[in-house]
Amino acid sequence: MLAAKGLLTISDLLYYAPFRYEDRRNVKTIGMLAPGEKAAVIARVVSGKMSGFKRKALGLFEVIFRDESGKDLLARWFHGERYVDSLTPDTRVALFGKVELDRSSGNRMMIQPEIEVLSDGDDEGDSALHSGRVVAVYEAAGRITTRVFRSLLNRILDEVEMPDDPLPESVRKRVGLPELGAALLEVHHPAADAEVGLLNEFRHPAQVRLIFDEFFWLECGLALKKNKARAATGISFSVTASAREKIKAMLPFKPTAAQRRVVQEIADQMKRPHPMNRLLQGDVGSGKTIVAAQAAVIAIENGFQVAVLAPTEILAAQHFAYFRKLLEKLGYQVGLLTGSLAAREKTRVKKQLAAGEVQVAVGTHALIQEDVKFHNLGLAIVDEQHRFGVRQRLELMRKGEQPDVLVMTATPIPRTLALTIYGDLDVSTIDELPPGRKPIATKHVPDSRVEGVYSFLAQEVNAGRQAYVVYPIVEETETSADIKAAEQMYLHLQEKVFPKFKVGLLHGRMATEEKERSMREFQAGQTQILVATTVIEVGVDVPNASVMVIEHAERFGLAQIHQLRGRVGRGAHQSYCVLVTGKLSQIAAERIRTLVDSNDGFHIAEMDMKLRGPGEFFGTKQSGIPGLRLADLIRDSDVLEMARAEALALLEGRDAEEWKAVVRYIQEHWQRRYGLVQVG
Ligand code: ADP
Ligand code: MG
Repeated sequence: MLAAKGLLTISDLLYYAPFRYEDRRNVKTIGMLAPGEKAAVIARVVSGKMSGFKRKALGLFEVIFRDESGKDLLARWFHGERYVDSLTPDTRVALFGKVELDRSSGNRMMIQPEIEVLSDGDDEGDSALHSGRVVAVYEAAGRITTRVFRSLLNRILDEVEMPDDPLPESVRKRVGLPELGAALLEVHHPAADAEVGLLNEFRHPAQVRLIFDEFFWLECGLALKKNKARAATGISFSVTASAREKIKAMLPFKPTAAQRRVVQEIADQMKRPHPMNRLLQGDVGSGKTIVAAQAAVIAIENGFQVAVLAPTEILAAQHFAYFRKLLEKLGYQVGLLTGSLAAREKTRVKKQLAAGEVQVAVGTHALIQEDVKFHNLGLAIVDEQHRFGVRQRLELMRKGEQPDVLVMTATPIPRTLALTIYGDLDVSTIDELPPGRKPIATKHVPDSRVEGVYSFLAQEVNAGRQAYVVYPIVEETETSADIKAAEQMYLHLQEKVFPKFKVGLLHGRMATEEKERSMREFQAGQTQILVATTVIEVGVDVPNASVMVIEHAERFGLAQIHQLRGRVGRGAHQSYCVLVTGKLSQIAAERIRTLVDSNDGFHIAEMDMKLRGPGEFFGTKQSGIPGLRLADLIRDSDVLEMARAEALALLEGRDAEEWKAVVRYIQEHWQRRYGLVQVG
């Protein structure tokens, strides 16, 4: 049972930190208990019975306890079945709870007290371990209860010598945290005057020390790994005067300050003779594509080819059009490679790629197929990288010789977090939207009032705008029933609700030509309303669209709705997002509220992580954090910042003995763990 929890060694146990603490300092005899106070008593079971009206449903379990004061204490548990077997007469128990008075018997009483069964073998010293102090509560492992853990750790702390503190002394002093041994002792066995509140918030210095450690070694490991990757030989691009000229000629608008800054970061790294591995993050609509296009110009001007990988055919088609518009006037050739192209067309594009006649290849997964060869791939760009796995990125990289890599995501997260989660990627962040964007007004409407939403939509269309109506279908899992729902809604909206307008339909199961036609007609304004599934989630860019209606919004994720919402608000018009929902669970209500209250992708990503937990947020596709045990990426983000700064500072002076000791320690102890961190 311990092994199942990964508790194989003494050290594993030492780091098995309590998840909660209880203040059991106020130990009294039953005779001393005063109604209203919270206290602990140690007593024996006199008798117990299941009782109450409708016994089964309520399951009221009542037990009478008595101690050496000779007085009785009544304890009541609703749904108390689980206690029946353990609380047999004469069992010794520690109870903690609020003292009340039972009017009928005049006895003192506790309702739903916390209890711990003490075995008769326990001597005085042992029960002193479980009450009369601030007590640590451990997550049970099978039949190994919190009490067993407490005793076990008490023995270990008593009898085993504490490990040497591997944290460099200078670091420990600077951050002002206790020594490892003292921290471990305090975490399992808080001092008599410990602040329980602090402990339960994981802000006690002893806990912070352990949390700091996990982050510190992780960050040192990442720094080491990144250092090694950076030492590899890659392409050293030069940013020539002609590249600058071409970029200037290409830009259709004035870049924002943030765009200029990240282009500079990217160009600086492209110049270096080591491969670039960079994440470009920025909220939806922040203008990442034009940044990628500028990097592309630099690569092409150096005689290299560029690959642009997109997750959907629709987005690939759109990028193809966008890059063509920008780059063909500079004299470059752009090719498109997707799964649905006619075989002859595919063969033609592949030939051109292999011969180097095409400088930019835009495509979907088709681009990373075995038989696709580049003449000399120098820059690989992956858009909406959260839709891809690490493996696909590596496959794309293998199409060239140590090409520079730029991956883009619209799920921005705080920088330190990004640098940690994305392992050895460098991170550039666009934290500013192009000028003139009006914040999207987001409203929540119950589905009983959907008619009102439709009339608002009609009003916007009459004013010359366009609208999306989205139904919850994820394209990979589109079932016929779901498709039918979208198709039926399309017919319903076209025939019954908006007979005067032209309504289009777009979902993942349509033939490619149909999809393209549908998208083209909407882009050209020939259809005013587009009924769609989440295939439009990423990248689609139609500036005249000003309304996004999302039906059954409770079935979407937080980041997903934010992405969808990003399809509007791309032009000069005030835009709206309407979230239509049925009955909401508490967590769905929280998601909807977050979206109504905020347009900020950073904030939304953080809330998403909080609501779903970082593990699920990042999914298996890209989760790279080796089992952090005590540390929590969100709760402890300030400690993460601190640990990262310390790790980098130490790396700076890498000749010093301290850094060498750190490297040795990682090699001995953390290899297994930080080896799990995936290569970006
Ligand atoms: P995302 O970061 O979501 O991929 P896009 O690259 O699709 O965003 O850009 C969103 C829209 O904003 C596009 O129509 C793009 O041409 C436009 N855009 C980008 N940067 C600027 C800018 N500096 N000024 C004006 N419009 C811009
Ligand atoms: Mg984009």
